[in-house]
Amino acid sequence: MKNSIMIKTVHRKLTLLCSGITIFIMIVMSFGYLSISEKSLKDNQFLAFQTSMNTFIANLQQQSVITHDWLLSAESTGNFYLQIKDNGEDFLFNTLNSDTSKDVLFDYARSFYHSHFQIVSLGSPKPSEHIEFAFSYERKNYYGCLAYLYKGNAVLETLIIFPLTGLNQQIIKQRILFLWVNLVFAMIFILFSSYFTKKLLKPVEENHKSQIQFIAAASHELRTPLSVILSCADACQKADSKDITIFLSTIRQESVHMSRLINDMLTLTKTDMHTFSIHKETLEPDILLLNSFEAFEAISKEKKRNLSVSLPEETYPSCQLDKERILQVLAILIDNALTYTRIGGDISLSLKNDGKYILYIVEDNGIGIADEEKKAIFNRFYRANSSRNEKEHFGLGLSIALEIIQEHHGTIFVTDTPGGGSTFTVRLPIA
Ligand code: ADP
Repeated sequence: MKNSIMIKTVHRKLTLLCSGITIFIMIVMSFGYLSISEKSLKDNQFLAFQTSMNTFIANLQQQSVITHDWLLSAESTGNFYLQIKDNGEDFLFNTLNSDTSKDVLFDYARSFYHSHFQIVSLGSPKPSEHIEFAFSYERKNYYGCLAYLYKGNAVLETLIIFPLTGLNQQIIKQRILFLWVNLVFAMIFILFSSYFTKKLLKPVEENHKSQIQFIAAASHELRTPLSVILSCADACQKADSKDITIFLSTIRQESVHMSRLINDMLTLTKTDMHTFSIHKETLEPDILLLNSFEAFEAISKEKKRNLSVSLPEETYPSCQLDKERILQVLAILIDNALTYTRIGGDISLSLKNDGKYILYIVEDNGIGIADEEKKAIFNRFYRANSSRNEKEHFGLGLSIALEIIQEHHGTIFVTDTPGGGSTFTVRLPIA
């Protein structure tokens, strides 16, 4: 329970961290892009305004008579406000078109122009002078253009104000769009981070689970011999000297089981802690197989199983192996084969060479292993149902063999023996 809460907390924190960093980068990039895009929008709009002012002033310049209607239609098509003065005197157009709020705006724009730009000198030989500028009034943005047109002795001062409502709306729309895009992507990032960190933490969670299972199984396995030892010790107190010998022998037997189990567990703990050392040396792989055969020859006869070894004539290349560990693996496989083969059964040991690997093969015609159990038998404390009552077998042998073979960069697997039984193959690299 505590473990699942811890994993959940780590998962939440990792999700927050991963999505937080990604969202932060996304927001910074969005802001950057948004400000560049807004700047280019404004620049383009100002450029368009300058171009339209060039055209308008050129048109105005060409008008021999500037009529009220012409000015009205220019104002409405250009979407701007217009004010014209002839030698400083207001055009009739201004008076007819007068509007207090517009007049205030014109005054402000004119004073803004004069405080920021040089006044174009009157009497200039140029036909026209105009300057475009941007300004804000009462939190609204405008472009302004002040033009001086020279027609004979007359100087037409034209002030044009273009409200930037369209541009502002476009900018606001773009900002809202970005906000939504950021929100949607933020949600997606959170979901992705949550999914991936969960996947990332799965091995940690499984590892923790298997540690707990390992401890539970180990305690369970130790409890049986311990309770036998305790009850024998109790019985010894009341037993006569003849029975005491029997109880003592049982205590010894159970202690041997316990010590074997503890040794196996220590081996696996060492592999988990990466303190399991492998001392490789140059060895003849066939000699190792013969050694294993000799070690089990007598016991197999005693158990009435036929143990044989077949080595072809060819010479085997020397391999870099840890002698003790490989002998341990072969012992585990032969011991299992003897255990899970009926009286009179056959167990054969052989060696093959496929150029890159050598293959140790331990084949029996015993009870066999169901397909769905072929993978599981390499798990710690796993025992197939049929072998549950085996006192000598704790379900650790194959997991130790697997660790040793993996340390040698090899593989171990089981297949069915044709006709029944199991065939274990250990594949070890030659080089
Ligand atoms: P154990 O010490 O119980 O034999 P192992 O890890 O060596 O543990 O083996 C795990 C399980 O695999 C055994 O309990 C048994 O069910 C099955 N097994 C291993 N070797 C053989 C075999 N040669 N034939 C049939 N079953 C086997």
